[in-house]
Amino acid sequence: MSKKGDMLYAWTNDAEIAKRAELGGAVTGMWKYALESKMVDGVLAIKKGKDLYDAAPTFITKAEDLKNTAGSLHCGTLLLPKLIKKYFDGAKTMKIGVTVKGCDAMAFYELAKRKQINLDNIVMVGVNCGGSVSAIPARKMIQAKFDVDPDTVHKEEIDKGQFIIEYEGGHKGISIDELEEAGYGRRSNCRRCKMKVPRQADLACGNWGVIGPKAGKATFVEVCSEKGAKLLDGAIKAGVIATEAANPKGIEIRGKVEGAMMKLGDKWRKHDFESLGEGKDRLKKIMAETSRCLKCYACIENCPICYCEDCTTKNPAYVTPGQLPPNFMFQLIRFAHIADSCVNCGQCQELCPADIPNALFMHAQQVELEKMFGHVPGVNMELPLMAYVEEPEERARLHNTGSDMIYENVFSPVKK
Ligand code: FAD
Ligand code: SF4
Ligand code: SF4
Ligand code: SF4
Ligand code: SF4
Repeated sequence: MSKKGDMLYAWTNDAEIAKRAELGGAVTGMWKYALESKMVDGVLAIKKGKDLYDAAPTFITKAEDLKNTAGSLHCGTLLLPKLIKKYFDGAKTMKIGVTVKGCDAMAFYELAKRKQINLDNIVMVGVNCGGSVSAIPARKMIQAKFDVDPDTVHKEEIDKGQFIIEYEGGHKGISIDELEEAGYGRRSNCRRCKMKVPRQADLACGNWGVIGPKAGKATFVEVCSEKGAKLLDGAIKAGVIATEAANPKGIEIRGKVEGAMMKLGDKWRKHDFESLGEGKDRLKKIMAETSRCLKCYACIENCPICYCEDCTTKNPAYVTPGQLPPNFMFQLIRFAHIADSCVNCGQCQELCPADIPNALFMHAQQVELEKMFGHVPGVNMELPLMAYVEEPEERARLHNTGSDMIYENVFSPVKK
């Protein structure tokens, strides 16, 4: 029987899944078992849409359809948990399996804290994530740096620090460092991301640490919860997947790669946050950039921290209706409500039609708050900082003292 902390190599015995899978198909194999055994009612995963730049979410209820979801799409920048809140009633009644990247797993926890998702009904199979590349920049990069027509590319992968493409007539790989120095490569939030092995999921799967004869043919699985152990054991017993112990040298290599990715994340944080300046300079920069805002609400609609039916940014007392750009209060409300819990998923930046680096602004604030209060969003069910503010008490204090600082106590030590 498997248990939390176990590490092994796994692959599927299903030939059709194995053919399409990224690294042996253990993930899709486990979903097959989960559906057939009715451990879940459906699986939310990603499949290739029109082409490999078009990662589409798909909800699968029949095991035979799972093969279409096998394989990794590195231009897949979607965030799945909000779809579950929006279209599946937060998994209140349905049991749903989801393949998650680190940012998805973090978003699940933040939505669950706010009672928008029922985590008891969610099974998460995590995939390690070195980063994803937005679709349009990926096309531009392939044209400019690889000198290849992006429409002729039929496969892409990230391996050993290179972005590799296969296209009509050949294949080419260029180091991610070189691409990023030239302004291409992973999304900026991915460069700063330090959630590389999503251990908040029930299982964490990836290629790091698979060495020897199984390299490229199996995935490295770390068991992260009892639910994960149950899924893995069931899939092995049903004969859908096979496993062997992870090579100890492979475990060591995986640890080293993860450590190196953390350092790289820190390097990019320093680089990006320093570019914002400090104090008033930072504020001026944010005000200048956000002055392009069209008030389309895409940043709010897609943020996993935002769930309010009556969003304060739509209150005419704060944000004047019919005015573009909206007064700066529009941005301040978002900063005040989200910054303590931002998981740096990048959605608010990726989907902003005015190209405002929203995720950078919010992430920079989140990291400052983390330094002050030690609160790390998205890793467990610890409540967000704002939950420790007693609003009725604060209002009474306001009334009694005349102080206009509603949340004055937020900067005193956190109440546990
Ligand atoms: P498969 O059976 O092929 O199943 C893959 C699953 O991933 C499917 O459920 C599919 O729907 C889902 N999926 C595909 N694309 C996405 C996406 N963009 N977002 C969410 N889900 C998706 N492993 C590492 O060790 N190091 C890395 O740096 C690394 N980077 C990755 C980056 C991305 C964007 C992705 C998606 C995966 C990455 N992986 C990484 C994990 C690795 O590529 C394999 O997914 C993992 O080893 C499982 O292999 P498999 O054959 O069992 O999966
Ligand atoms: Fe992967 Fe992190 Fe980027 Fe999410 S934010 S896609 S987990 S690197
Ligand atoms: Fe403004 Fe961009 Fe948000 Fe739209 S997505 S409301 S343009 S900041
Ligand atoms: Fe993601 Fe932006 Fe919300 Fe942060 S503020 S969680 S980066 S959508
Ligand atoms: Fe709720 Fe604030 Fe987000 Fe609006 S900006 S949805 S009020 S958290």
